[in-house]
Amino acid sequence: MERTLTILKPDCVKKQLIGAVINQIERAGFRVVAMKKIKLSKETAGEFYGVHRERPFFGELVDFMSSGPCVPMILEKENAVADFRTLIGATDPAEAEEGTVRKLHADSKGENIVHGSDSAENAAIEAGFFFAAEEVVRNN
Ligand code: ADP
Repeated sequence: MERTLTILKPDCVKKQLIGAVINQIERAGFRVVAMKKIKLSKETAGEFYGVHRERPFFGELVDFMSSGPCVPMILEKENAVADFRTLIGATDPAEAEEGTVRKLHADSKGENIVHGSDSAENAAIEAGFFFAAEEVVRNN
């Protein structure tokens, strides 16, 4: 069983889509094994997205990710990393497949509702960024 790390981003929370998106995630066969609601500081948001530090959109991304509460979750499913990225669609909602989370709900390439880890290795690092071992609990 594989794990991935997602964040329901501040736009998702502001639009009151937490329930709708989790519903879509659960219906696609993912199990929520950890979840919390937190507001990132600019510093923490910058640390999480440190790989993008040199990109032109880094400042915008940090401002957005620290603009309000978000909901990080660890999800479990066979092939979780790849299947989750299929479920959420392309970074830019204009390029995302019909029915994907971003196509349904995202406004722009920056404000795109959800994060999804890009590898199992990064998923483990990102999970550790948000959750202590005792906060990760399997359903059964
Ligand atoms: P993904 O989240 O689909 O893996 P990336 O890792 O490329 O995409 O980028 C991380 C996040 O940075 C994106 O989800 C988006 O919020 C933001 N981002 C990426 N590209 C841009 C851009 N050109 N302009 C503004 N924000 C961007």
